[in-house]
Amino acid sequence: MEETKKVPHDDWALLLETAKEAARDYLSDLENRSVNLLPQAEDTLDRLAEEMPIEGSPALDVLKQLISLGRTSTILSTGPNYYGFVTGGALPIALAARWLSDVWDQNAALEVMSPLSARLENLVEQWLIELLGLPKQSVAGFVSGSSVATLCALAAAREHLYQRADWPLRDRGLNGAPSIEVYGPDTLHGSIEKALRILGFGRQHMHWLKTDESGRLNPDQLPTLGPLSILILQAGQVCTGAFDDFETLIPAAKAQGAWVHIDGAFGLWAAASKLSQPLVKGVAAADSWVTDAHKTLNVPYDSGIVFCRYGDALTKALSSSGSYLQSDRGRDGMDLTLEMSRRARAIELWATIKSLGSDGIAELVTRFCDHAVLLHQLLENSPYTIVSRPIFNQMLVALADDDATTRALTALQQSGKAWVSGAQWQGRQVIRISICNWRTEAKHIERLAHLMIEVSQA
Ligand SMILES: *Cc1c(COP(=O)(O)O)cnc(C)c1O
Repeated sequence: MEETKKVPHDDWALLLETAKEAARDYLSDLENRSVNLLPQAEDTLDRLAEEMPIEGSPALDVLKQLISLGRTSTILSTGPNYYGFVTGGALPIALAARWLSDVWDQNAALEVMSPLSARLENLVEQWLIELLGLPKQSVAGFVSGSSVATLCALAAAREHLYQRADWPLRDRGLNGAPSIEVYGPDTLHGSIEKALRILGFGRQHMHWLKTDESGRLNPDQLPTLGPLSILILQAGQVCTGAFDDFETLIPAAKAQGAWVHIDGAFGLWAAASKLSQPLVKGVAAADSWVTDAHKTLNVPYDSGIVFCRYGDALTKALSSSGSYLQSDRGRDGMDLTLEMSRRARAIELWATIKSLGSDGIAELVTRFCDHAVLLHQLLENSPYTIVSRPIFNQMLVALADDDATTRALTALQQSGKAWVSGAQWQGRQVIRISICNWRTEAKHIERLAHLMIEVSQA
């Protein structure tokens, strides 16, 4: 009897109702609240540190503490005034579907564990391949984000290239294996080198090539490749949003037998809008692609997707087995990802895509691009120099010198009215603005431009 008291069956309806009310309250005024933590957050966060509790607390009390933490101590990155990094918002349908999928607590490892998830993964895979214009035979793995998707894709690349070279990777591993040489622009995202490192590619075998002022690989920089080469290109450089020249680079690399991988964490979605489609022309000729749904598509974290032209390479690299795993039909998502037990990410993806339709996704992407252009216009005759014009959804600006730029950046970040991030770009301190939230409207962009001009005198 004593035991049952320690794991109380709390009133789930009351807990969920309380959480729902708090959610409504949180989301009802994202517009005017500070983007930053409130002044008391420092104390509040410090007070969280305590010994591992031996006695539990009533669940409702814990929930109420969490609700109060949310009010003081969360960054309002889901609101319209957040332009840091590349941070997507969360569409209401995506959030609501995510809630339900958590209520159902489906495990997407095996079809037998969640036929619903397996069916939706199959369907969303097809829809995304069509929307993004990728080869029909491609397969998709639903993972936590682009970092993991990249690891999966490059594992598939390694599997495929060694198999073609008759190197028994499974038996002999990398010991004594012929080396795979990796090439890419010198402006690649840090997650790429991390994935390569984890997979056992040494730095001596990574060749980062010269890029132009927007971070694109210069096609005449491409050296001779071979059947044991991987070329990594970008659909959306993380600072400038630049897209590599796929039409020239991919056929050249493929003709020499190389594997081509695309980091399209936020930019692959350019394919969804007529306005931005030209940016990704030719991208479908690659072998693997990654993208994030938690960025441009505005579903909540964590949701990334790996696509691979060769399903067998991805499954060969990632499948595992066990005598207790009942895998007798259909789609076992765990064979296409690193994880085994996994939340059913396809549920909110399906709901979001079905609710928006390809028209709605096009409109979302177009809106981000239009807003970047609007900001560019508003800053054109201002103290700011445009370091990188909007190519997709983001741009870089700077003031006369690095100190002035840093002062303006700090003032912006401390204002609580909007948040942008900084970066070093080609030896220069810049302010980086990324527009990636469905809640951001033209009036917010106008407000941001005013604020930026105001702090330029800081
Ligand atoms: C965000 C991003 C990544 C990493 O994606 P995660 O989802 O954060 O793991 C990789 N490449 C680019 C270009 C990105 O913008």
